Amino acid sequence: MPSVVIIGAGSSGLAAAHTLLDAGYAITIFEKSRGVGGRAATRTRAGFTYDYGANYIKPGAPASVELITKRFYTPELIDIQKPVWTFDGSQHIQEGDPTQNAEPKWSYRHGLTTLSQLMAQGLNIHLVSRVARMQQHANAWTLYDEAGESMGTFDRVLITIPANQAVPLIQASAFQQDLSATINSQLEKAHYNSQISVLLGYTPRPKIRPYYALVNTDRAHAISWLSWEHEKNPERAPADAGLLMAQMAPQYSQEHWQVADEEIYRDVAPRVASLIDEALPTPSFTDIQRWRYSLPARKADADALNAITLPMGLTFCGDGFVGGRIHLALEHGIKVAQQLIDQHL
Ligand SMILES: Cc1cc2nc3c(=O)[nH]c(=O)nc-3n(C[C@H](O)[C@H](O)[C@H](O)COP(=O)(O)OP(=O)(O)OC[C@H]3O[C@@H](n4cnc5c(N)ncnc54)[C@H](O)[C@@H]3O)c2cc1C
Repeated sequence: MPSVVIIGAGSSGLAAAHTLLDAGYAITIFEKSRGVGGRAATRTRAGFTYDYGANYIKPGAPASVELITKRFYTPELIDIQKPVWTFDGSQHIQEGDPTQNAEPKWSYRHGLTTLSQLMAQGLNIHLVSRVARMQQHANAWTLYDEAGESMGTFDRVLITIPANQAVPLIQASAFQQDLSATINSQLEKAHYNSQISVLLGYTPRPKIRPYYALVNTDRAHAISWLSWEHEKNPERAPADAGLLMAQMAPQYSQEHWQVADEEIYRDVAPRVASLIDEALPTPSFTDIQRWRYSLPARKADADALNAITLPMGLTFCGDGFVGGRIHLALEHGIKVAQQLIDQHL
């Protein structure tokens, strides 16, 4: 069986890994961060546990539902009961779409990374291992880290990192026939928005609401999403405290990318209080995450790209090809891994 190296241990990479392992392939995963899960990310600080990237998982196709509800099921899985309501640029709040709100909103009692951690168990994953460049040989690929050290030679490569982030990796790599411009012209069809997530902890806990989160529907507000993180599980915040997460709109995020954290908290906290019309105290806890590659506003075409690269033993998957949702990333990882398997047969 050929050896396969997977670059990235996010949802798509982990789902692909299991599909390949089931078919008997030897898998190695390189992940640049200190943990798995990519943008399905959870952090615990000062007694707060929060998902600072993706918020919850929607039930998608049977392939991803099976992973969540059967193969990697844990009693930690929860369905966020309260609905998502909407607001517009003039801060008018109203009930959300009843059909969408009737669907489960899956999370985990102690954070969304629970799923990735369960999926990562037993896999050959190298953390804090950023792949900087690849070298193609006749029937194999050698990967190199940022120091120029070899990370090993493998028969096949599966790249699962955000499509735009793959562009410099391809540019730095050496191909037998120079296809880097052709590959990158496909990858550049995707475009990710940048996004700032702001976490604001309050003591006492803010008022109880009939909703768990608010989403801006007309894209005319600086806040695009506001969620009450402690509604997922009261244990995610210290007793008496509560945590709100404001995901800022793409334009606001772009304009404030270089602005100091403290200044962003000072600007966002009153916007949150005004939106929900509540006299909130000064936050007792703050945190911020700048997502350079947040959600794909435009997708690239994986079938067109993989048709070029699959014969070379190189494949791509991830949300840049299917849309910014965890279930879509899981399903795409499974699909592309299956294409790799089928090509070998
Ligand atoms: C703020 C925000 C809110 C969101 N909200 C939701 C939501 O509510 N529901 C939902 O379903 N989805 C949501 N999403 C989208 C969802 O998180 C993504 O679609 C999904 O996690 C993408 O998975 P992926 O495997 O394609 O990519 P990623 O999760 O990005 O995984 C790629 C991995 O590759 C690693 N990597 C990158 N470069 C290298 C390198 N050179 N070498 C080694 N490793 C590398 C990264 O560290 C990462 O772990 C949200 C995303 C963000 C940012």
